[in-house]
Amino acid sequence: MKWECSNCQYVLNKEEFPDRCPYCGEKGTMGKVKSAQDIIDGSKVERLPKD
Ligand SMILES: [Zn+2]
Repeated sequence: MKWECSNCQYVLNKEEFPDRCPYCGEKGTMGKVKSAQDIIDGSKVERLPKD
């Protein structure tokens, strides 16, 4: 699993969700980064209209 900090764009490779960024120390800034495989998988199911 890859996580990216929305504050400093630091990318962390870790299994569990990190509650804070290990680089800048900000809390609640980590978000999941979509891997190429996630995008491929997502393209199969994201056929529903968004609304
Ligand atoms: Zn950060």
